[in-house]
Amino acid sequence: MNRAENPASGGLNAVAIADVAVIGGSFAGISAALMLARGRRSVTLFDSGVTRNRFSAHSHGLFGHDGTPPDALRLAGRAQVLAYPTVALHEARVTAAVADGDSFRLTDDAGHTHVARRLLLATGQTDILPPLPGLAECWGITAVHCPYCHGYELADRPTGVLMLHPAALHQVQMLAHWTADRALFLHGQPLEDDMRRHLTAEGVAIHDAPVAALLHEAGQLRALVLEGGQQVAREAVYLGARTVFASDLALSLGCAVTEGPFGNHVVADEWGVTSVPGVFAAGDLARPMPSAPQAVADGAKAGVACHRSLMTFA
Ligand SMILES: Cc1cc2nc3c(=O)[nH]c(=O)nc-3n(C[C@H](O)[C@H](O)[C@H](O)COP(=O)(O)OP(=O)(O)OC[C@H]3O[C@@H](n4cnc5c(N)ncnc54)[C@H](O)[C@@H]3O)c2cc1C
Repeated sequence: MNRAENPASGGLNAVAIADVAVIGGSFAGISAALMLARGRRSVTLFDSGVTRNRFSAHSHGLFGHDGTPPDALRLAGRAQVLAYPTVALHEARVTAAVADGDSFRLTDDAGHTHVARRLLLATGQTDILPPLPGLAECWGITAVHCPYCHGYELADRPTGVLMLHPAALHQVQMLAHWTADRALFLHGQPLEDDMRRHLTAEGVAIHDAPVAALLHEAGQLRALVLEGGQQVAREAVYLGARTVFASDLALSLGCAVTEGPFGNHVVADEWGVTSVPGVFAAGDLARPMPSAPQAVADGAKAGVACHRSLMTFA
């Protein structure tokens, strides 16, 4: 590790310069840190511990770990990466990151300064749920976003799809593979006649009125209540919530972003290279669709690319 003076402290204190600061210590970030550690680079891993899937008791679809509680998964990954002597963990939120010559200067929420030659952002996304009473309590249990994550466990139940986005029309058709009892809640949105006829012929019950609330017992959905008071018995509901970046670091660094179906994501190539030299991005932050196994894969690739960016080739 190199050392440099810290101008923020009047030049009296030395700040260690890590090869890479990985910001976000979940699926993507830990995976990236592991590759960098195995490449014998010094890594400062920052994590504020607020993962996107923390509302669910079990994480599905990652082989070797199918059904493992998300926190157990994250902590096991973290323990493995911390076994490498060149990795240091800060359980802190990075609040600012600025380019400073050939490196980046970070500030965390304890007011400490850190310096790294490369940045690897794996800070994820936050789901913005519509403010419907009962929804937050069901989120990640019986109100969910993805059939591949939750559909097997929620199969064969009376199921609804809440239309917040046109992708709901695709989802309600896909769900035929998980349940025979499907209802589409248009939530006040229009539906073309052809699609209405098609879905009705497929056996999908269509409700036009906006949803006012979810009735549940400890997160177990019982019914959707429509404006006007009608209750439609349902035991599972799918919805694609709007998303926002869990951290604005990518924006403040000037990374290019693009719009996906539910919100923006950072533009990065398949190796996690962003529009800002020295800044890499991986996981939900840089992909339109959320997925733990894909975040692991993205993190591994970005970790390798970041590692290679620190080498000199003839
Ligand atoms: C309810 C729910 C259930 C889900 N279930 C599944 C499932 O079963 N299977 C599946 O494949 N996918 C599932 N997903 C999707 C999955 O959660 C995400 O795809 C995955 O978490 C993305 O990993 P990530 O590392 O990109 O981000 P995250 O897991 O969200 O981790 C981001 C990390 O960065 C940290 N962070 C953010 N900003 C900062 C900062 N400034 N400084 C320091 N740390 C910071 C956060 O605290 C967090 O720990 C689910 C999603 C939801 C909403």
